[in-house]
Amino acid sequence: MYEEKASNYCHCRLCQKAIGAPVAVFTWVPTENFKFSKGQPKRYASSDKGDRLFCGDCGTPVGFDTKGPVIGVTVPTLDNPECFAPQQHIFVSSRQPWFKDNDGLPHLKEGPDSDSI
Ligand SMILES: [Zn+2]
Repeated sequence: MYEEKASNYCHCRLCQKAIGAPVAVFTWVPTENFKFSKGQPKRYASSDKGDRLFCGDCGTPVGFDTKGPVIGVTVPTLDNPECFAPQQHIFVSSRQPWFKDNDGLPHLKEGPDSDSI
């Protein structure tokens, strides 16, 4: 399960396609404690795991609604992204071979509960 307020680099293929980049940065917060300050995002069901949220005016990906106790928010779209530094890389098994990082953070093969690689 996603840890409250944990921020991750996500290398999964769904994020790559939804974000249009090799990696997405999400932070996970309790759904009940989160609200959009201006307008409501559009959504589409990208998988059985939840809905992708995006701005209906400009298309910016803003989040991932698990329809559960936590919601994922794309960190770069927050007012204070510097406060949500990623703590690990997840779904590294899907990382593009040409994408390199050497930030020293843990690299998890799959989701947050998987083994490090
Ligand atoms: Zn992902």
